[in-house]
Amino acid sequence: MRIFVGYCLVLAVLLGAAAAQSRRRVEGPFPARPGEICIICYGVLDTSGLAYLIDGRRYAVDASESGEFLQDPESHIRKFESHQAAEQHQGLLAPVAAAVLAVGTLLFVWLRRRRRV
Ligand SMILES: [Zn+2]
Repeated sequence: MRIFVGYCLVLAVLLGAAAAQSRRRVEGPFPARPGEICIICYGVLDTSGLAYLIDGRRYAVDASESGEFLQDPESHIRKFESHQAAEQHQGLLAPVAAAVLAVGTLLFVWLRRRRRV
């Protein structure tokens, strides 16, 4: 009977550990690839940085900041992704602004020429 209780306890601990792990699957660390962006400070990393696979997605971090990242990966991922989205947004706006400026300049030149005629 005692062995059975002990077995149940071990099983419960193992199941608990498995449940805790399945919440967020973390693999790594792997060496970062040169040019990857640090999820904490957005700095550009070289191979001295670390990369983790979290639920299959790759995130890179400075080696000195990996502890901070692993303490609360979820909030860092959220912040990082909104930062990346904002960057992409700016990247899209710049060509649009350039196009508007170019069209505006052309219109201005064209109108001035028409008035002269
Ligand atoms: Zn960093």
